[in-house]
Amino acid sequence: MASLVKITFCGGTGSVTGANFLLEAGDKKILVDCGLTQGFKIADDINWDPFPYDPKTIDLLIITHAHVDHLGRVPKLINDGFRGKIYSTLPTKALAQPMLEDTAGILSKNRNYDLESIYSVENIKLAFSLWMGVPYHEKIKIADNFEFSFRDAGHILGSAMIEFVLNGKKIVFTGDLGNSPSPLLPDTKTIKDVDYLIMKSVYGDRNHESRNERRKFLEQTIEDNYKRKGTLIIPTFSLERSQELLFELNDLVENNRIPVMPIFLDSPLAIRLTEIYKQFKTYFNEKAQKAMVHEKHIFDFPGLRETLRSEESKMINSVPNPKVVIAGSGMSSGGRVVHHERHYLPDPNNTLLLIGYQAVGSPGRLIQEGVKTVHISGEDVVVRSHITTITGYSGHKDSDGLLNFVEDTAEMLKKVFVVMGEPKSSMFLVQKLRDNLGVDAYAPERGETVSFIC
Ligand SMILES: [Zn+2]
Repeated sequence: MASLVKITFCGGTGSVTGANFLLEAGDKKILVDCGLTQGFKIADDINWDPFPYDPKTIDLLIITHAHVDHLGRVPKLINDGFRGKIYSTLPTKALAQPMLEDTAGILSKNRNYDLESIYSVENIKLAFSLWMGVPYHEKIKIADNFEFSFRDAGHILGSAMIEFVLNGKKIVFTGDLGNSPSPLLPDTKTIKDVDYLIMKSVYGDRNHESRNERRKFLEQTIEDNYKRKGTLIIPTFSLERSQELLFELNDLVENNRIPVMPIFLDSPLAIRLTEIYKQFKTYFNEKAQKAMVHEKHIFDFPGLRETLRSEESKMINSVPNPKVVIAGSGMSSGGRVVHHERHYLPDPNNTLLLIGYQAVGSPGRLIQEGVKTVHISGEDVVVRSHITTITGYSGHKDSDGLLNFVEDTAEMLKKVFVVMGEPKSSMFLVQKLRDNLGVDAYAPERGETVSFIC
């Protein structure tokens, strides 16, 4: 029997963030992801506007991974009446808790009482009471002839594609796809025989530099800073990037490639998330698992100090150079890194190392572009330190990577819906998929509904 399928692109089209898709088939209403739109402040209206569907009528919410642009609106969904089931992989469920609590913390600092009541402890608790963590590949039945399972996306710990099978036809939502090979995670799983693909397109229009060089650059930057007796500041994202960096630093220290010196992980969120990574070792790739057999502690090495409390963080200033400070946020728009930048950027012996994407207009981007003075949390700071950028740390597939991913399943494909990218990058990927693989690709607009028969 054939079914009519409708997909509404409620968010995550025309932009990288804010993923939220409604899949309707038979009498079932399923949401894929429920993320915050980022790039502005979390408190921006777009994140708190009503959903374009009634959350009370939704049966299932399936989450691809623990980044807040994929799950950050879950407390609002609960607040607005959702009481269906939530599914994700086991690591995603574990990582989701600190991620949601951290967002609640940011909102409470802003003293926005309306939003605090939406993002309440009760709503977060209720979300987890509805939440099931399941392993990759386990089939979950939705109705007769309708089921889904998770496939490893290789993007962050626990990240997944969602593979729906309806009347024998496959509909796959990619979520974010990792920049494989990753030092920690297995490669993105190859998927076959897909009929309809809903895929992300961030970096659909460009290729990354080689990842092989990045470790060499990291080593060189740390050595240069050591020789200058400076402080090296690395602004970083708490989830995945911090753990990748710790893993690589561990390797450099254990193999005597860099001298032992104080290396501070000055991010309470990253410290909490790293503890969760340690609990899910079987989700790492073979190389990382082997390293663990030899060393036991792949995120811990001589010199590493975790500074959980803010008093400990303030003490970092009094520790003699050379030293390294890893702190959030990744774009220097808030978090503890801001205090370190105020303190260390004016000194030419110090170095700021940028390893993450810097959004247009963010302090990190301005510093990267070479401004001599930067406005950081209400203060003008003179930039005299070294500024270094390492590309190759991206957690997303690039244009060629996305194309290769689709090529594996191109034969059966009836249509690809290209989402989660800036318009230019979505359009570019649509064109490439048509030209290079001859598949029917289309970039839907926000709010648009498409339908097909399965
Ligand atoms: Zn992501």
